[in-house]
Amino acid sequence: MPTTDKRTCVIGAGPCGLAAVKNLLRAGCDVVCYEESDGIGGNWAFTDDPGRGSVHECTHTISSRRMSSFDDFPMPAHFPDFPSHRQMLAYFTDYARTFHLEPHIRFGTRVEHCELNDRGRWEVRVVADGTATTEVFDSLVVCSGHHRDAFVPEFPGTFAGRILHSSAYKRPEPFRGQRVLVVGAGNSAVDIAVDIARVASHTALSVREGTYIVPKLLFGHPIDVVYAYWQNLLPRPLLRLSLKVWLRFAVGRWEGYGLPTPTGAPLEKHPTVNSSVLEALRSGRLAARRAIERYDGHTVWFTDGVREEFDAIVMGTGFRTTFPFLSGRIVGWDLSRTPPLYLKMMHPTIPNLFFIGLFQPVGCVWRLADYQARIAALQISGRLRRPPDIGTRIRHEVRRSHARSGPSPRHAIAVDYRTFRRQLMRELA
Ligand SMILES: Cc1cc2nc3c(=O)[nH]c(=O)nc-3n(C[C@H](O)[C@H](O)[C@H](O)COP(=O)(O)OP(=O)(O)OC[C@H]3O[C@@H](n4cnc5c(N)ncnc54)[C@H](O)[C@@H]3O)c2cc1C
Repeated sequence: MPTTDKRTCVIGAGPCGLAAVKNLLRAGCDVVCYEESDGIGGNWAFTDDPGRGSVHECTHTISSRRMSSFDDFPMPAHFPDFPSHRQMLAYFTDYARTFHLEPHIRFGTRVEHCELNDRGRWEVRVVADGTATTEVFDSLVVCSGHHRDAFVPEFPGTFAGRILHSSAYKRPEPFRGQRVLVVGAGNSAVDIAVDIARVASHTALSVREGTYIVPKLLFGHPIDVVYAYWQNLLPRPLLRLSLKVWLRFAVGRWEGYGLPTPTGAPLEKHPTVNSSVLEALRSGRLAARRAIERYDGHTVWFTDGVREEFDAIVMGTGFRTTFPFLSGRIVGWDLSRTPPLYLKMMHPTIPNLFFIGLFQPVGCVWRLADYQARIAALQISGRLRRPPDIGTRIRHEVRRSHARSGPSPRHAIAVDYRTFRRQLMRELA
């Protein structure tokens, strides 16, 4: 039973939304969670529906089992180091059951618009079965994910084949026997390139700039576990140097794979964690190409003058972080820069609005989102004070962004796992 009559609306029942509902219920709040699909799990609920983004048929986690368990809900010991998406969905389903979350979730209900009324309460317009209704809440917790609004870059000319975004990629079979170009060097792009290379007649990976590609295992342990261990022992510059040296021994020269040499230190930017792509490049199943310059029918011209014919292009070119249900007055920030939110969650001027999971660590998202959700729940239930100097804190956070790269939507929400965890724990303390 809720111990407060204050109503809270949660948008989305992905991993972060589930963590939000759990923490709000624990804090005694009256919670309604709206989820537009018919089940929990968000991105981890694999679907063949091309209109709905999800992980791919071949997806296994990038963050390891040990680092990807909620603190209060370890994954089963028989799960492998990098569980499949099916195992992850089973884990989140178990989590929702254990904490009795499902009765608070309204499935098949899309949030269309959220507006603050004169009394500072949220009027939330939702659509279910084609019928729109509006409900009023005291607080709004946004957990709608940041892998939704696909970003597809445009190039001069016209491509005569098929172009699709990685979020619509489900499995390799439709590309059997085709010539396929995968664009991007992020985790999704390289996963898809390796997957397609198994069945396509020719697969190439177009990479714009040098990116560290880090094998999933180091000394026989998941890389995030090893990194977390050494982070506690070594100062950051020494840790980065050690990683660079280790990568040089383990991987060798990037030119040997046809890839541009990365600048800066490993893990300065969000890395690509994949053990198979380097081997695929060296065994000729995958060819490395530079950035696209232009299209001409089925021909793609690359910036180094190489040209090649393709039947299809898969864009692993990331997402825009957008909130179509909130007005630009509330979230009208520059998407290529760190969002002006304290701890990536608290709005500068609206105390009853929270964002959960709007960050990208080298490691697991939902585990840190659970701490954010705890902070939100304690503030909503009146047990934790919102910092009075929030504007100053936000300016400080934006100035000292964890992302050590120029403006880019991909790196705008990057956080250093350990530093961010420490900041969240400090707030909770
Ligand atoms: C291939 C791939 C591999 C990944 N591997 C990892 C990994 O190993 N570790 C990791 O930490 N992260 C990984 N990620 C990122 C992962 O997607 C996120 O960590 C996780 O799904 C974030 O959870 P979320 O709840 O914030 O968002 P989502 O999972 O996107 O869930 C958001 C939910 O909100 C709902 N929603 C959105 N808008 C509305 C609306 N208007 N009304 C109602 N409902 C709405 C959606 O239907 C969805 O269910 C991976 C992503 C991809 C694509």
